[in-house]
Amino acid sequence: ERLYGVCDYYDAESLLTDGERRVLGRLRSFLDEKAHPLLADHWERGEFPTELGQPLIDLDLMEPAELTGGASGAEPVPARGIYQGFRIFELARTDASLATWYTAQAGLFRTAIRVGASEAQQREWMPRVIDFSLKGVFSLTEPESGSDIAGGLSTTARREGDGWILDGAKRWIGGASTADVLAVFARDVADGQVKAFLVEREAPGVTLEKIHGKTSLRMMQNAHITLTGVRVPEAMRLHNVNSFRDVAAMLRAMRSDVAWIATGLQAGAFEAALGYVNERKQFGRSLGSFQLVQEKLARMLGNVTASLSLVVRLTEQQAKGIYRDQESALAKMQTSLLMRETVALAREVVGGNGITLDTDVARFHADAEAVYSYEGTHEINALIIGRALTGESAFTR
Ligand code: FAD
Repeated sequence: ERLYGVCDYYDAESLLTDGERRVLGRLRSFLDEKAHPLLADHWERGEFPTELGQPLIDLDLMEPAELTGGASGAEPVPARGIYQGFRIFELARTDASLATWYTAQAGLFRTAIRVGASEAQQREWMPRVIDFSLKGVFSLTEPESGSDIAGGLSTTARREGDGWILDGAKRWIGGASTADVLAVFARDVADGQVKAFLVEREAPGVTLEKIHGKTSLRMMQNAHITLTGVRVPEAMRLHNVNSFRDVAAMLRAMRSDVAWIATGLQAGAFEAALGYVNERKQFGRSLGSFQLVQEKLARMLGNVTASLSLVVRLTEQQAKGIYRDQESALAKMQTSLLMRETVALAREVVGGNGITLDTDVARFHADAEAVYSYEGTHEINALIIGRALTGESAFTR
């Protein structure tokens, strides 16, 4: 039996091995049985269901030994990109906060270490990143700098003795409150270049404040972080980050994960809407029997299918080592646009119940807005593509 049924119209699942499908099947059962019942209530309260964290980690989420042959202690073999993508898809079709929680570690933090750490540092940290025993977050965005972070980054790093002193603030940092370390990007006051540091969350001078009142991704916790005279040893600097160009390499590699989230999220909304219209009756017939509703179902399926085809192909390219800014930017931009239309159509066909947490559609509809904006807004990704098409950078006037 196929795992993704109607959401995977052209059978992308056939690219998975039997072993990968088995592991994904276990993730599906866990999400359906243990996670799903907790979602509406935690979303409403704005709290992450922390009890799901360890069981999800125990599912061997990052590099399942069963698939990679990486027994404990041995160097794990990286999981295949397509499988990695479907894992994110699976989490996002249940809940975007769960997918974001996972990609904060498996995408953002792991990429910071993979791209930024020296070989010796990677040997020390990577096994603990993979088994989640060293939890980290990616602290780039600042209160005054989001889209223009490359030029606007103002957190400072000052060399002092055998270490560094960091001062500044970071905003929106996902998962910071439960992390062991924060990967903080700061500008070296001596040479003006961006460097990266692993800062202990509980180090003196670090304060975290929960961002309250979110109307999207309410389960995921985002922090406003203040760094005041925070001392970091040189050994905790990521030795391969020497300028913003190295940070851009991280962003380029991570953006495809968000495209997988945008794809999984709309698949979840579509499935929930399809189930609903086949059940509910008006005018003595099921909603799904009306022509106008069927047109919306077809559009939603078209969006999901186009998105999935796009991320699968991008992932295949990246697996060959081909990473270009404009290609991951296009995937993030386009899947997010389609996602926004899909969740709006899903909400429409569910009617009034589409704005309550009783149907999953309302949660997907609200959560889509954060996914639309994080890791490069629509405009910023469009400008990256525009620059590649014309040779003209239009980020500033
Ligand atoms: P702004 O940069 O202020 O942009 C506002 C609007 O102006 C946008 O529509 C933008 O596209 C537009 N705009 C800006 N410049 C231009 C231009 N030149 N031309 C045309 N339009 C333009 N960051 C992290 O570092 N780590 C995290 O873990 C993290 N998690 C996040 C989780 C959530 C839920 C959210 C909402 C954000 C998160 N972020 C994180 C930050 C996120 O990456 C930024 O919100 C995003 O980059 C946009 O920056 P901004 O919000 O400051 O918007």
